[in-house]
Amino acid sequence: MKVLKFGGTSVGSPERMKKLVPLIQAPESKIVVLSAMSGTTNSLVEISKALHDGQPEQAKQLIGILEAKYKEVVKALYTKEESLKKGTELIKTHFEFLYSFCLNPFGNKEEKAILAQGELLSTALVHYYLEELGIPSVLLPALNFMRIDDNEEPDLHYIEEHIQKELSRHPSVPVYITQGYICRNMFGEIDNLKRGGSDYTGTLIGAAIHAEEIQIWTDIDGMHNNDPRVVEKTHPVTELSFDEAAELAYFGAKILHPTCVLPAQLRKIPVRLLNTMQPEAKGTLISEKNSGASFTAVAAKDDITAIKIKSGRMLLAYGFLRSVFEVFERYKTPIDMIATSEVAVSLTIDNTRNLKSILTELREIATVDVDSELSIICVVGNFTAEKEGSAFRILQSMKEIPIRMISYGGSEHNVSILVKTSQKKAALVALNNGLF
Ligand code: ADP
Ligand code: ASP
Ligand code: MG
Repeated sequence: MKVLKFGGTSVGSPERMKKLVPLIQAPESKIVVLSAMSGTTNSLVEISKALHDGQPEQAKQLIGILEAKYKEVVKALYTKEESLKKGTELIKTHFEFLYSFCLNPFGNKEEKAILAQGELLSTALVHYYLEELGIPSVLLPALNFMRIDDNEEPDLHYIEEHIQKELSRHPSVPVYITQGYICRNMFGEIDNLKRGGSDYTGTLIGAAIHAEEIQIWTDIDGMHNNDPRVVEKTHPVTELSFDEAAELAYFGAKILHPTCVLPAQLRKIPVRLLNTMQPEAKGTLISEKNSGASFTAVAAKDDITAIKIKSGRMLLAYGFLRSVFEVFERYKTPIDMIATSEVAVSLTIDNTRNLKSILTELREIATVDVDSELSIICVVGNFTAEKEGSAFRILQSMKEIPIRMISYGGSEHNVSILVKTSQKKAALVALNNGLF
């Protein structure tokens, strides 16, 4: 069985929803994972923000705008009386639920319930549309099998067991439709896999059912060699290894959720990135096979904070780094880059939720400087120890750009360079000109 994930733009309008039909109609069974219609999750975030800020009137207004949009979608999507009725009823139920939050106290739990509405709506809308066309499909409720644990990590064993249960209730259906992004947490409450999380749903389901292939359908013809939002003249990379794709996703290539490659890599399931607007384009195949290129692609990750930790105690001593890392571990804060000298260590984080407490503890053992508004530029390629000239070409390309930190040799596929975010665009353009 294949898993096909369609992103927000691919279900972004009634016209786009109709264009999914030829892509999912083949007789063999498949699981179709859908995102919310593009713009919906952003609107739900805004509604939640208004409610957090104690502005229920503003929230009501925003809900009203979104409701009007969905009423238009229903009108344009269906022709049969019965589907129009079902669609109207669906919108009514979900929007009454949204309005109900304007009357009650609001917290994080409520926010997550609001954020889940986009995927619940898009999947039901497409399901009714297939029904209208007479294409058999079943809705698999993601909230019955997608789950995260106490570390907010997906619980693959639970997902595996529970999706099988759902599938066995409806054997041999050509199209199973389910919601991307949404899940339950260890308390059974509605939660999510963070923004862009529908990709993760797709690969987790792929891993859970040992799928033959996972397809991620989006609005671009595969992973490009550089960020097409920032740099002109980028081109699709036809093949990537799991390692290369994972580095690019983690370091900012928005086409993939940061950690979504891992479940596919774990079970060695090929992932294809394809374009709904151009279904015949080759796209990108992510598999165990290496691209073989010296320089495969470049990506950038923003909102990085660098922490420089300096201490005389580090000189010729052991155990100092452990005491530093333990602080980050206690506050569940992952470290991205590290550079060390005899008396100092610089490292970067992107999660600053506990920065204040981390700094207080670090200052008990060292002198600490903090620098923010930084970006990690990640160059992915093949940089084995035997190969000469890779670092030279990267640095030569970036000769005009001030560099704050470099990490080379941590993996054979990644060179990370820390720059000020104000220099990000210049860095990406310079690398595009120098490497490709
Ligand atoms: P979806 O809604 O289908 O999940 P996303 O907006 O999350 O789509 O991801 C697709 C977008 O990712 C593209 O439109 C493109 O602007 C952006 N993007 C950023 N970096 C890359 C890259 N290296 N290759 C391809 N697309 C990229
Ligand atoms: N709808 C969610 C978001 O916009 C998840 C996704 O699209 O992948 O982040
Ligand atoms: Mg996405």
